[in-house]
Amino acid sequence: MDKVNWQEFPFEAFFADIQDYIRTSPERGVVAFENPMELRDQFDMTLPEKGRSIEELRGDLKNYLEHARNTLHPTFANQLYAAPLPISLVGDVVASLGNSTMATYEAAPIATLIERALIHNLGKRVGWERTEGVMVTGGSNANFAGLLLARNTRFPETRRFGNGNTRFSVFVSDEAHYSFFKALNQLGIGTDNLIPVPSDGQGRMRPSELDRLIHTAKDRGFTPLCCAATAGTTVLGAFDPLNEIADICEKHNLWLHVDAAWGGGSLMSKKHRHHLSGIERADSVTWDTHKMLGTGLVSSFILTPHIGTLLASHRGGGNNYLFHDGQENTLDLGPSSLQCGRRVDALKVWLSWRAMGDEGFEKLVDSLYSRSLWMAAEIKKRPNLQLIYEPTSLNICFRYKTKRKYLANLAVRPIRDDLIARGEAMINWSSRSGESFLRFIVVHPGADEKVLSNILDKIEEAGARWEASHA
Ligand SMILES: *Cc1c(COP(=O)(O)O)cnc(C)c1O
Repeated sequence: MDKVNWQEFPFEAFFADIQDYIRTSPERGVVAFENPMELRDQFDMTLPEKGRSIEELRGDLKNYLEHARNTLHPTFANQLYAAPLPISLVGDVVASLGNSTMATYEAAPIATLIERALIHNLGKRVGWERTEGVMVTGGSNANFAGLLLARNTRFPETRRFGNGNTRFSVFVSDEAHYSFFKALNQLGIGTDNLIPVPSDGQGRMRPSELDRLIHTAKDRGFTPLCCAATAGTTVLGAFDPLNEIADICEKHNLWLHVDAAWGGGSLMSKKHRHHLSGIERADSVTWDTHKMLGTGLVSSFILTPHIGTLLASHRGGGNNYLFHDGQENTLDLGPSSLQCGRRVDALKVWLSWRAMGDEGFEKLVDSLYSRSLWMAAEIKKRPNLQLIYEPTSLNICFRYKTKRKYLANLAVRPIRDDLIARGEAMINWSSRSGESFLRFIVVHPGADEKVLSNILDKIEEAGARWEASHA
């Protein structure tokens, strides 16, 4: 068997294994946790001298799936994404089959047009007539690209000469994603110049504090560059008040970036898009469709209504062999990207949107929101559980109520670990203002009220076990 010959390679066997895994995934649970030492013992990682047979390779893949996290399982609530839409998997497989790079129109003609169509349509959801954008490697990278765009557009000389003596500052809420910290490191602005703006009791940036901190920065000789508001915070799922923040940005002439990596999906819903009202006033937006809309990791976009700025900011190089003679094909997305070779991520997003339609996405988002409300209400009904924050969106922050109150913080982590060890559910945890809690994300389309109720039972059982062992 020649392993480099496409026509002779037995794909059927592998696809049958994949199909089999998908069919049986509900019975597998989310998989018990193994520590790295155990995993190394159980899994043969060696890269062999002689190539392995097809049957051995099928065994390798089965073994891999056995030990991987089963994100298809509805009790996977650890991350801001869960099972991708089935059609998204198909799109990803076909994207790999095509193996094209998004750098040039000539290498990926249809994919380039599809990515451009997606950018236009996502921009319309934001509220823009025309949108420039590009797909990136994740929301973190979109936030970086947004800040780079802000700096290069507002201070064009920095593109060639760097930051010089200008001391920029960038404002985010104290609940913002850590990628802004990394972005300031990458930009040479310096991580100390990321100014955290205090948030209110529900995790929303306080506009008056933003105004105050901008004044303080100016007084100290800094150049306030950008405010990056969050639409859907990572821990609480809170939405910064975008209109009030946009007013302040206008007043002080700051670039407004909106990180809607998580909350962006709400724009598909007439009922819930009000959380992001004012987003149309942003100068740039981050949106991960792989989160709320289920289009599979990675589907991330950086979007701007200022046509031509992204290209002007990010372009440069590659003229001798890729973008010939500096005569970039105007359709090429490569010059607007920070990557050279780039996967066709657009196909799975486009196929998912075709499969769901606007209506299907709206229904999905609405059902996630209503389940999240249901779950919060159910937690409040249960005497052994305590809701820590009223949810605005799909993040449910709660914990087991220990009989001795002072142990509640301490019990969060062991209860979570117990659920994982038993393969019953995978839920993350966090803390804010001295309170620890479980952070459950209602994003799996299969996590209906029955599943959610069952998980709450398991949490109560784990809590009771923990208390019994700490009597
Ligand atoms: C998930 C998330 C990010 C990071 O996105 P990645 O695609 O994981 O890099 C950034 N900001 C917010 C608010 C997020 O929820």
